[in-house]
Amino acid sequence: MRIVLLGPPGSGKGTQAAMLVEHLGIPHISTGALLREAAENGTELGLQAKKIADKGELVPDDIVLGMLEERLGQPDVKDGFILDGYPRNLAQAKSLEQVLERIGQPADEAILIDIDAERIIKRIAKRAQEEGRADDTEETVRNRLRVYDEKTAPVADFYEERGLLTRVWGDGTIDEILQRLLSVLNVQAETV
Ligand code: AMP
Repeated sequence: MRIVLLGPPGSGKGTQAAMLVEHLGIPHISTGALLREAAENGTELGLQAKKIADKGELVPDDIVLGMLEERLGQPDVKDGFILDGYPRNLAQAKSLEQVLERIGQPADEAILIDIDAERIIKRIAKRAQEEGRADDTEETVRNRLRVYDEKTAPVADFYEERGLLTRVWGDGTIDEILQRLLSVLNVQAETV
């Protein structure tokens, strides 16, 4: 199963991806996490990316694509993956399509976790307290939502045109949303 998980910041993509990993046994690939890891390791590219991410802007496409391609080259990807945080604009959607085609692993599902801005702001404020992420301040969150509306939202149309998109309502408990995702993926709730 090769799944692209879409949704605004704070929609619960990361949480749901982690739950799906347990049920599906395929890796979770988060470009945000790859970037944070590179920054923690103190690589030049990672530190450069962190400055941009801390403002809520998108890191340049070539940097993120390079990290993603490297991750997609790992052997655990052969049985599938859950991609979270990529693509974030149309150029990335096209690059991803090419890369996945090249490695013979085209996406077979794109799921958009849909949720309104008001709920997002509340959730991110909570996450900021729990995780202390530098890009979870109110001003940065507003910027990230603006970037999402302008650049990332059109990616849903890209997958819709290819007949791959399903929208799932993102309000509810973690388990309720997980059940919605599993039903889209045709995974029987009783077997999980
Ligand atoms: P996330 O953990 O997915 O919320 O990502 C955190 C931050 O990392 C984003 O706000 C961006 O600055 C950066 N980032 C993550 N994925 C991408 C991507 N696909 N393209 C550009 N920037 C990204």
